[in-house]
Amino acid sequence: MIRVEHLTKVYDRRVAVDDLSFEVRPGEVLGLLGPNGAGKTTTLRAIAGILPPTRGTITVAGHDIVGAPIAAKSRLAWIPDDPHLFASLTVWEHLEFTAQVYGVRDWHDTGRALLARFDLGDRADTLADELSRGMRQKVATVCALLHDPEALLLDEPMTGLDPRGIRSLYEVLRERAASGAAVVVSSHLLAQLESLCTRYLILVSGKRLFFGSRDEILAQLEGLRGDATLEEIFFHATERGAVGA
Ligand code: ATP
Repeated sequence: MIRVEHLTKVYDRRVAVDDLSFEVRPGEVLGLLGPNGAGKTTTLRAIAGILPPTRGTITVAGHDIVGAPIAAKSRLAWIPDDPHLFASLTVWEHLEFTAQVYGVRDWHDTGRALLARFDLGDRADTLADELSRGMRQKVATVCALLHDPEALLLDEPMTGLDPRGIRSLYEVLRERAASGAAVVVSSHLLAQLESLCTRYLILVSGKRLFFGSRDEILAQLEGLRGDATLEEIFFHATERGAVGA
């Protein structure tokens, strides 16, 4: 569903992502891990079509994000870590706007159900400016889900959410994956990711260090117990691992 081939992104002269290739299949939830500055946000923004790649190709549902941006973007949803909403629009007006942009019909019931799931049922008429940071994140999430995207990209989505919000988000992402969406989630909250992700991509300095399921990565690392946590795997991989797999 998402295919990244030889992606390189250079800012000025800094190489933020270096010859990165991976794919996310329908039904998968990929955890994008790496230290600060590893290139996670750059990778997600490139897949979302916000940053043009310096080199390499990215396709979403078979559509090239550079060559066919409208077809590719209509199939994906991008939830940045600090979503910008329109200050003078209400929550409901954000849903209306999103539905218009993506050409979604008969969205009112879905919209109401999504707002209720994220505890925003009584906030439909509230202006975005009057929402808390976590609530703004929830509105961005609801808007992102409205057009039933085939690819979902989330950058640090848990940071501002309350525990119920995180639980609702996980439930929704699992449901979307079960119905065939490809999901990519970047996060530093490794303990929380463990219950969600089916595969992981560990980046260091813009390069792919490890890519695979927990067990596949574990099999390439020596000296870890079979029941090692994702946090233990991450530290072991980033401190001792060599670029590979
Ligand atoms: P974090 O965990 O801190 O969010 P990240 O893995 O998301 O980090 P990126 O934000 O993708 O990392 O940054 C990767 C590299 O690219 C870093 O060295 C960063 O300084 C650089 N970089 C990011 N954005 C820009 C920019 N707009 N201009 C120049 N360099 C940038």
